[in-house]
Amino acid sequence: MTQALQCLAVIAVADYVILRHPPRWHAIVLFDHPAHLATAVLLGGTDPVYLAGSLLPDVDHLPTALRNPKVGDPRPRTHSLLVVAAAALVSRRLAAGAAAHFARDLAVDPGVPLVWPLSHGTARIPYALYAAAVIAASVRRAGPGSAARSAVTSAPATDSA
Ligand SMILES: [Zn+2]
Repeated sequence: MTQALQCLAVIAVADYVILRHPPRWHAIVLFDHPAHLATAVLLGGTDPVYLAGSLLPDVDHLPTALRNPKVGDPRPRTHSLLVVAAAALVSRRLAAGAAAHFARDLAVDPGVPLVWPLSHGTARIPYALYAAAVIAASVRRAGPGSAARSAVTSAPATDSA
């Protein structure tokens, strides 16, 4: 099975479980984070800094985890593009990974306060749009020339910032 199909399978299984057999809040991470990593691989490759960025926004869940969170509770306000901007101060690859994180969170309940503090509203896209994007990315990754693209996107790059 190609890496692209493996990533799609990880996302499909994770979202099936989260939707049909929702685990407790603290256990969702066991399904959601592999799906975040799979999404990031499909959208941008396997660079370790980029993949770390794809999990970075969820650091703001740590204080929530110490309380008594319930499935469907709103994400913290800091789950916004501010994380991408802050990551960009460190590394463009880290910021790109954080942006890939939001590609998934936007499609999964309860959405994301994407432009906080400019707005307190929650942004949400249809799950079908996310699914179409990761399927299209997997076709691109599995298609002709994908090995060359993968080598380019997984190669360490130098950041100017
Ligand atoms: Zn998140």
